[in-house]
Amino acid sequence: MDSKINIPEEEWKKKLTEEQYRVLREKGTESAFSGKFYTNHENGIYTCAACGTELFRSDVKYDSGSGWPSFYDAISQDKLKFETDSRYGMTRIELSCGNCGGHLGHVFDDGPNPTGKRYCINSASLDFKKK
Ligand code: FE
Repeated sequence: MDSKINIPEEEWKKKLTEEQYRVLREKGTESAFSGKFYTNHENGIYTCAACGTELFRSDVKYDSGSGWPSFYDAISQDKLKFETDSRYGMTRIELSCGNCGGHLGHVFDDGPNPTGKRYCINSASLDFKKK
């Protein structure tokens, strides 16, 4: 996994919970409707659970009905890494943290205006800073 910071996997294992490690470092997916932020409606900023980079604002979060936290925009495209993911017989755009390389989720083109994007993110990949 290429990234701006280089932390050995053993360190990530100590720093992250088992579920965070499985999602962030092994590109896992949490079960739909299971994550802690799916129904979070508080005002604040969502950060990368691994490295703390600020990724999404609560004012662009919406209920996509998918069971995962969904956003229609990101704080900065430069803080994200977009790659084609062809696993499981689908072609999707995988989204990772541009700083630490941690897996966040996927981006789809069925989001609401004004961007039309749906950033579909695992709660396990996020922390929340309340305003
Ligand atoms: Fe990160």
